[in-house]
Amino acid sequence: MNPRAHRLEVYEVVGETAEAVSLVFEIPAGLVSRFEYTPGQFLTVRVPSARTGSVARCYSLSSSPHCDDRLAVTIKRTPLGYASNWLCDNVTAGSLLTVLEPAGNFSPRAWNRDLLLCAAGSGITPVMSILKSALARGRGKITLVYANRDRASIIFARQLQQLVQRYPRRLTVLHWLESERGAPTAPGLATWMRPYRTWDIYLCGPPGFTLVAKRGLAQLRVSERVIRQEEYRSLTDNPFEPPTPASPIATGTLAPTAPPGVAGAAGDATVRVEIDGATHTLPWPRGKKLLDVLLDHGIDAPYVCRESACGTCVCRVARGRTRMLVNECLIDEELEMGLTLACQTLPESDDLHIAFDQ
Ligand SMILES: Cc1cc2nc3c(=O)[nH]c(=O)nc-3n(C[C@H](O)[C@H](O)[C@H](O)COP(=O)(O)OP(=O)(O)OC[C@H]3O[C@@H](n4cnc5c(N)ncnc54)[C@H](O)[C@@H]3O)c2cc1C
Repeated sequence: MNPRAHRLEVYEVVGETAEAVSLVFEIPAGLVSRFEYTPGQFLTVRVPSARTGSVARCYSLSSSPHCDDRLAVTIKRTPLGYASNWLCDNVTAGSLLTVLEPAGNFSPRAWNRDLLLCAAGSGITPVMSILKSALARGRGKITLVYANRDRASIIFARQLQQLVQRYPRRLTVLHWLESERGAPTAPGLATWMRPYRTWDIYLCGPPGFTLVAKRGLAQLRVSERVIRQEEYRSLTDNPFEPPTPASPIATGTLAPTAPPGVAGAAGDATVRVEIDGATHTLPWPRGKKLLDVLLDHGIDAPYVCRESACGTCVCRVARGRTRMLVNECLIDEELEMGLTLACQTLPESDDLHIAFDQ
């Protein structure tokens, strides 16, 4: 079992709309520090399945660590989906769920910036946490562009209205309803987003929506490299099961790799890794991704998707050069800070130092 997995009791189930519920969790005293989180992070929930044993699904925290006493995730039914419907149909107050500790990188690093938040459907959940936190902690302005099918499907409609009344000079909420103007289009969103295009931008929702919103921003000459995004898709991996051994990347020119626990093969890089208060010095085969090296050596590195999307395995290159095979979630500012995703990182230098300190 993943050492970051814990059983949590559901304290309350709140009906948000006809298709969405919030699950509010009770965190036992001994786990409080493990469930500290930043706005924008998510939990990964294990959903039992007679077919596969279990499936794992990520759900963003809609609560704010700065405004709410308890952690909550908000789940919207996906038509024909498995886990979302199982959770909406089966979980009640008192249910026990197996959940991974909070993870993810979709979080502001400062609170006084102006924010353009853009969400569709259940994509509101991390955005709601960020929005509530920024209003409580910061002084910047916030505009939320929020797309939904119709008025009845707007999650947190009343809370948003109350927040606009409370912060009329700082918060603007623009509802795009498909029932009134059709599906969101790039030019339509561009018109709405134009006044805010220089603000820090956060996009969240299903892939179709984030694509259209990015096209709209491209029309406003906003580079994709400054847009923070969280794309809602189901995991293909199951982090509740033991990690599957990864094969090295085939490049044809790489030296053979040494098995874990033995001295590195000729050509391997050497990496010093700081994680959870311990330091490990390991051979790093040229064709092997950092996360796989750590897991091979039995080191409890954080990960969820292993596909570059969720940001759980973010770490900092303190010395040496690396390269990422795929990067779906780090923006330029973070790359300049030396951040990288362990699940996609290969060594370029011979001698490296990596810190899991984010
Ligand atoms: C970082 C992140 C945060 C997210 N946050 C949220 C959020 O806050 N709120 C939200 O609503 N969504 C969120 N999502 C999306 C969420 O994780 C799921 O993708 C979504 O709920 C759809 O999952 P589903 O299983 O219902 O649907 P699908 O994944 O579409 O279900 C179909 C899949 O389940 C499999 N399946 C069908 N039946 C079974 C069975 N009996 N046993 C096993 N497998 C089966 C099928 O083979 C198919 O692969 C987030 C996603 C990410 C990546």
